[in-house]
Amino acid sequence: MGSLDDYRRKRDQSKTPEPFSGRASGDSRFVIHKHDARSLHYDFRLEVNGVLASWAVPKGPSTDPRVKRLAIHVEDHPLDYADFEGVIPEGEYGAGAVIVWDAGRYRNLMGEKEEPLSMSQSVEAGHVEVWLEGEKLKGGYAIVRIDREKDQWLLVKMDDSEADARRNPISTEPASTKSGRTIEDMYHDHDPTP
Ligand code: MN
Repeated sequence: MGSLDDYRRKRDQSKTPEPFSGRASGDSRFVIHKHDARSLHYDFRLEVNGVLASWAVPKGPSTDPRVKRLAIHVEDHPLDYADFEGVIPEGEYGAGAVIVWDAGRYRNLMGEKEEPLSMSQSVEAGHVEVWLEGEKLKGGYAIVRIDREKDQWLLVKMDDSEADARRNPISTEPASTKSGRTIEDMYHDHDPTP
C-alpha cells in the first residue's frame, strides 16, 4: 500500500532525527480554488496518480454534514496547477480571477476500509472519501456520483469531530490561504487602474 503509518507508529518524532514527512501514496495534496468565472464556483482538486482530479462546486464546500453540494466532475489538471493564483484573461477558457481558497494534505479513507480502494479506483467507482488537513477545511469529506451521464456528484462533509454546522467558511473566510488576497484583490493587482 505504500503507507508510512507503520513507520510512523514505531518512531517518536520528538526523539529521533529521522524524517517523518515522507509522502506516502495515501498522503497527497489537495487544493480548493475559488474561481470567478462566468459564474463563481469552487474547484475541489485532489492529487491522484500525479494529476489533480477536479470537481467544480458551484456553492463551495460546507462544514455541515446535513448539507449536500453539487460537484461537477471536470477534467484532470496538472499537479503544479495546485499553486496557481491569478487572472485568466478575457476570451480564454475559464476567464476570471482564481485564488487558492484552501490547501493542504489529504488521506484516502477508502484505502483504510476492509476492502481498500486506491484513489483512482474510488473515482472510477463513483465514491470518494478523503480526510482533509487544510487550513479552513479539516476532517472527512465524501464525494459521491449521482449521475454518471452528466458526471454529477455530491460533496458532503462526513459526520466526524471536525463537522460544524455553525461554521460557514465560504462567507467568513473568503481570502486565499496562500497569499491572503481576495478575488477582488486579484483583479486590482492585475489592473490597478479603477
Ligand atoms: Mn473552475
